[in-house]
Amino acid sequence: MIFIDNLHSNSKFDWVKNMSQQLTIALSKGRIFDETLPMLAQAGIVPNENPETSRKLIIDTNHQDIRVVIVRASDVPTYVQYGAADFGIAGKDVLIEHGGSGLYQPIDLKIAQCRMMVAVRQGFDYRKASQPGCRLRIATKYPHIAREHFASKGVHVDIIKLYGSMELAPLVGLSDAIVDLVSTGNTLKANHLEAVEHIADISSRLIVNKASLKLKYNLIQPIIETFKQAVAASS
Ligand code: AMP
Repeated sequence: MIFIDNLHSNSKFDWVKNMSQQLTIALSKGRIFDETLPMLAQAGIVPNENPETSRKLIIDTNHQDIRVVIVRASDVPTYVQYGAADFGIAGKDVLIEHGGSGLYQPIDLKIAQCRMMVAVRQGFDYRKASQPGCRLRIATKYPHIAREHFASKGVHVDIIKLYGSMELAPLVGLSDAIVDLVSTGNTLKANHLEAVEHIADISSRLIVNKASLKLKYNLIQPIIETFKQAVAASS
């Protein structure tokens, strides 16, 4: 791996020493941060602090010109789109909702994998309730994805936008169904809900600001290559 060799060599081409530009990486706490760490490490980048225990929103790394900003998962595309971060990692769910404009999306990192599903209370007759022409109340954090899914089935929907604890909505009569991410299915089961329809497979992607890619190509391209190799090695 040329990039890593270069990174660890102190002579020939020490790209870090030669860096005149700063690189900013936008990440969200939790699963994406945890699953990104090994890939960053392969690119020779190690954050100095853990966002779970630090209150800092800007975390320095072992390279003085590379920093990580900790933002809400749904805000990662916005930071990268406006160039406040050069690149970041965001779930496909977040990218579909955001629209992905102005973003270069070179790699599916195959991390934070899950499914976007429709779920209802156990025993609810979803098949009958979701016939073309029917009307459903859907609680979700993902109004665009939900609207598009039901439009393609010819089902009318009233979308109720929530920011968390979607599983509660059908239990207290706020909605007929939810559209949410499901990983193990344990949260649905614990709340007496069941998944009834698969909308999309979701995983996280590397997203790069298009101007940064041009202006900082020599810095960003090797990182993209290292991430590509990490994905290939793990699949
Ligand atoms: P689980 O109980 O493992 O099916 O996880 C479901 C809960 O975790 C729901 O509240 C989801 O919104 C959330 N969740 C699952 N997978 C992801 C993911 N990849 N990214 C963000 N949230 C997730």
